[in-house]
Amino acid sequence: MSNKPTLTTSAGAPVPSNKTTKTAGKRGPALLEDYQLIEKLAHQNRERIPERAVHAKGWGLQGKFTVTHDISQYTCADLFSQVGKQTEVLSRWSTVAGESGAADIERDVRGFSLKFYTEQGNWDLVGNNTPVFFVRDAFKFPDFIRTQKRHPKTNLRSPEAMFDFWAAQPESVHQVTILMSDRGIPKTPMHMNGYGSHTFSMWNKNGERFWVKFHFKTHQGHEHYTNEEAEHRIGKTREAYQEDLFSAIENGDYPKWTMFIQVMPEEEAGKQEYNPFDVTKVWPHDDYPLIEVGELEMNKNPENYFQMVENAAYSPSNVVPGIGFSPDKMLQARVWSYADAHRYRLGTHYEALPANAAKNSKINHYHKDGSMRFFTNDFDNPDAYYEPNQHNGPVANESVAEPPLKIDGDAARYDQVEEAIDYVQPRALYNLFSDEQKQRLYNNYAAAMGPCSDAVKERWYAVLEKVHPDYAKGVRLANEKLDSDVNAAPITDETPVIDN
Ligand code: NDP
Repeated sequence: MSNKPTLTTSAGAPVPSNKTTKTAGKRGPALLEDYQLIEKLAHQNRERIPERAVHAKGWGLQGKFTVTHDISQYTCADLFSQVGKQTEVLSRWSTVAGESGAADIERDVRGFSLKFYTEQGNWDLVGNNTPVFFVRDAFKFPDFIRTQKRHPKTNLRSPEAMFDFWAAQPESVHQVTILMSDRGIPKTPMHMNGYGSHTFSMWNKNGERFWVKFHFKTHQGHEHYTNEEAEHRIGKTREAYQEDLFSAIENGDYPKWTMFIQVMPEEEAGKQEYNPFDVTKVWPHDDYPLIEVGELEMNKNPENYFQMVENAAYSPSNVVPGIGFSPDKMLQARVWSYADAHRYRLGTHYEALPANAAKNSKINHYHKDGSMRFFTNDFDNPDAYYEPNQHNGPVANESVAEPPLKIDGDAARYDQVEEAIDYVQPRALYNLFSDEQKQRLYNNYAAAMGPCSDAVKERWYAVLEKVHPDYAKGVRLANEKLDSDVNAAPITDETPVIDN
């Protein structure tokens, strides 16, 4: 007799056969009573859930965060309460535009999401590998994403739509500059920084509020693919990141990042020429230096990808006492819309799934039934299912409330941003690039803009001109060179291949 475990039905009963359908006679037809056949096929039909509308292709690891520096003067958050304190973390990195089967190393912004399972509930930092974003107002977000996804008729990605949109939103040029720079195709998620991007807040035990930006700097160094290297690698594998991350962990090469914060006292907001709550802007390091906080180490491949990565539901709404939001309009919208996306994609009680359930704090809420209600929360007393109640059910704790936010001004539906301010920080970034980096930037644009109409190209050059005349000139020349090269030399069997 085999010592292998016995196969069972999903209800736990032993199964006599997993090979053949129960038929009437030797040749069939199949009997409807062969429930295990129906169960098997029905399960297969339900193996997919809706993929994320954005950030569909992703890779995740488990690990830990260790506090190395005391920041209790800025926050009372328990996870930062002591040097040496460790918190379990689940990461998910992703591309933005590609579907779940897309190649990993496309030129795109990368999602950089961390779920900290703290002793005061889960804190999700749902950021990117860039410190800024394309648009500062959520009203523009659905349109922006549509330009990144497929055209309704051609069913192809549309550079024309992308640059048409960006040219009408000069605030985008900061993020587009990063996207077209060397950092637009990280070699692996291990070789890129992570940023919370938005401005968040922290408050300390005295009730003082600070505005905060989060940064995670890679220990592995910045490494990137050129377009040609990426094409070559994609030709060999579409799953480069999954392969590299999985084998790094199996080989014991655990990737690490140092976490920093930038801190702005509450009353200083509004004194800068830029809006510190505008997600298309950074806070210059000279004005707000990086303050070291701790170390992130990712050291475990999840046992089941679907359970821990596909089911992972990150939302900026998951904050813990001592960490809060800011008036950033994009953040305010994401707080609502990310959680809503998970309710749609995963189901009502998505936070009860293993990837999302708080591990180190007790969950006590009065939400009731709905899909995935596979847990109890009757607080040892089934009569305590509403609140207030006389049965010692959980009650709110006012001591964790954040300090009141002072608000002034008229409620208005317009943006008062001076356009000129949108060019200042992309110019600072452009000025950081060496001549070689600038040339690669221009070439990357040419590769991306090749299919665009002349009208859209001209509109984009006009935006770049306002960042720096050399920037516009360089991209124009690279586009013109590509056009003449394409006309002069069609790709042949002799076109050289770059070896990686
Ligand atoms: P600093 O000289 O102090 O910092 C420059 C920053 O640029 C560093 O954080 C560096 O990251 C980052 N960087 C270098 N190359 C790229 C690239 N291709 N794409 C994205 N980031 C890159 O300058 P400032 O703080 O005054 O900022 C100047 C400009 O740098 C900003 O306008 C912004 O565009 C960019 N930047 C600023 C950041 C900030 O938080 N202040 C963060 C990231 C970018 P690293 O140190 O990891 O090499």
